[in-house]
Amino acid sequence: MGHQVSPPYPVSILTSALMAYLNNGMAVYEMGMAGNAMEKIVIRDLAKRFGLPDGATGFVTSGGTLGNLTALMAARAKYLQNNPTADYKKLAILVSEEAHYSVERTFVVMGIPCENIVKVSVDEQFNIRADQLEELYQTAKADGKEVFCVIGCACSTATGSFDDLVAIGTFAERHHLWFHVDAAHGGPVIFSPRYAHLINGIDKADSLIMDFHKMMMVPSLSTAVIFRSQDLAGLTFTQEARYLWQDQQSEEWYNSGKRTFECTKPMTIIHVYALLRLYGDRLFREQIEQLYDLAKSFAELLDKQEGFELLCKPQSNIVCFRCVREGTDPDELNRSILKKIMLDGRFYIVGTTTNKAFYLRTSLMNTRTDLADLKFLLQLITDTTASNM
Ligand SMILES: *Cc1c(COP(=O)(O)O)cnc(C)c1O
Repeated sequence: MGHQVSPPYPVSILTSALMAYLNNGMAVYEMGMAGNAMEKIVIRDLAKRFGLPDGATGFVTSGGTLGNLTALMAARAKYLQNNPTADYKKLAILVSEEAHYSVERTFVVMGIPCENIVKVSVDEQFNIRADQLEELYQTAKADGKEVFCVIGCACSTATGSFDDLVAIGTFAERHHLWFHVDAAHGGPVIFSPRYAHLINGIDKADSLIMDFHKMMMVPSLSTAVIFRSQDLAGLTFTQEARYLWQDQQSEEWYNSGKRTFECTKPMTIIHVYALLRLYGDRLFREQIEQLYDLAKSFAELLDKQEGFELLCKPQSNIVCFRCVREGTDPDELNRSILKKIMLDGRFYIVGTTTNKAFYLRTSLMNTRTDLADLKFLLQLITDTTASNM
């Protein structure tokens, strides 16, 4: 219950063995016939669930970090296509200050100054202040910046907060900006009728990413990158590789290497494909609902418990809280608690610094965790503070 690492669903251990045994690359059809077809089937299914138009397409890539890079490179390519004289060093995006650090890395890789990332502040629930987008956009433009993309977090990594995607999508539409959604962690709420509302507005996205290895119980790494249309998906990479494919211009969905950063790529799609075929979407619905519900119960427990306080109400399965004791510096106290809990070894939780204060952080990833475990964790924390061990 520390970081967002999924316990692999048992059958995905078998599909891992199969993947290793077949050792199919994916760049071209003859290397990954089944894999490319499975990707097409799963991505089509997901795109439909997210409410994207029929032409939506995509592929699997090795992790959300690479997924964000791939999508933002397409966003940049689109902008440069429409604005061929744009000054590279002036390109900018708008994103919540709570966004995953991989967004900043995309700028490092793309050679755009990181100062051009316009960070939008968040409210007390750590959701983007969408009402500030317009003003920040106008200021950026007045400063000579060329904004090409706006990103929505679904959800943020530190606190698991979902940005208002309807508001961001509407804003993006108004200014003809590329709308990217980082749904690495939160995307799978789409499987739950009770929680899918958290990503209302995702149907407006030009691109989105979703990690299968976070909330969908498959081994690392496996990430869906989905684009609104084939035209957009093909923008990221335009290198020719005559020994792999003959025609650079046409789509050739079965030659996925045309659109992915990777050339040889493991057939990780087999995990999610197998889970969907064997168990259907029920598996993911139950996973989301059980863990999101558990986070709510944990928050209620923390609320009632003397000497504990929540950072914010959990919107997902991520819960941040801290211990407070009169006359003790809370940062020092909680850092010391974390160290003791780690050394004790029965629990693995992590910390996060936010609003300049240190909080304990749990990502409830395993459906075998229950409220009794969490009560025990709080008891253990209380004991460490009492005994001053
Ligand atoms: C985990 C995460 C990423 C990075 O994904 P990796 O698969 O670890 O590379 C990006 N964005 C968000 C919101 C995340 O939670």
